[in-house]
Amino acid sequence: MSLAVVGSIAFDAVKTPFGERERMLGGSAVHFSLASSFFADVHVFGPVGEDFGNEEYAILQNRSVNTDGIERVEGGKTFFWRGHYEYDLNMAHTDDTQLNVFGDFEPKLNDSARDADVLFLANIQPDLQRAVREQCPDAKFVALDSMNLWIDIAKDSLLQTIQGVDAVFMNDAEIRMLTGQSNLVKAARELLQLGPRLVIAKQGEYGAALFTEHGFFALPAYPLEDVIDPTGAGDSFAGGFLGYVTQHLDEGGELDDDAFRRAMTYGSTMASFNVENFGTERVRDLTGEEIAERFAGFKAITQFEEVAVSYR
Ligand code: AMP
Repeated sequence: MSLAVVGSIAFDAVKTPFGERERMLGGSAVHFSLASSFFADVHVFGPVGEDFGNEEYAILQNRSVNTDGIERVEGGKTFFWRGHYEYDLNMAHTDDTQLNVFGDFEPKLNDSARDADVLFLANIQPDLQRAVREQCPDAKFVALDSMNLWIDIAKDSLLQTIQGVDAVFMNDAEIRMLTGQSNLVKAARELLQLGPRLVIAKQGEYGAALFTEHGFFALPAYPLEDVIDPTGAGDSFAGGFLGYVTQHLDEGGELDDDAFRRAMTYGSTMASFNVENFGTERVRDLTGEEIAERFAGFKAITQFEEVAVSYR
């Protein structure tokens, strides 16, 4: 099974209490691709400008991400995002967003994207996400991510796009904002009623929760002592989750609840590595052994024995 992602490919300027980078490779599709590349064949799609060079391509290609779908726009500039975090690393503050080549991007997917079994519509304008979704009618499993900006300026379009996907990944605050429902359980149920089979609420340093029609599962974030830069944690989470899904989906696009719990754990594992350094700096050099070790660590911190207790 193969996996395709469409989303932002960016240069990011990021400042956290622990340091800063003035210009580094980022973007929702980039973080997603690197994380999912440990589990599946990944094809990344999106436009870049002339300022996107060999160094940036190499970061993706070194992880065997297929970059044939990156469209280099002559005379264009790559999407740019500037943000900062204060001591509460759960909250990204956007200082500048320059859409640049995304301003007039019209997605025309090649065959490898159209034939992908699993499709991730990473964070980008919801009209574009829908245009991509419509070009992949045969995908077995489609998921999307979004953010507060699009809820503010394109809410109806986002709600329409959600109707055409199997899974929604969003921050808990954004799920509340989108539904106008302050209780997360009720808010997630409202989104499920629009059509998706799964809603995954990302809760930053508190972990993530999975809502399905009849089920619920939650995991804490891995207890790390040093968190340097949370940028891309959400996309790395989605990358680990959907990478695992791509490996295990059956021909009918089905997967049981236990497998989705493992997908949650791989998502949390990849997100935990992502935050250990700036941008892509940690995930791009990761090894399979490190992933397996942290996955086992997650299992150890989330299981417990049941013993008989008498209640009075
Ligand atoms: P996250 O996983 O939510 O931390 O996503 C971080 C990435 O999202 C950064 O690398 C940014 O380049 C990218 N990003 C920020 N704002 C937008 C936006 N409005 N549309 C698409 N991508 C964005």
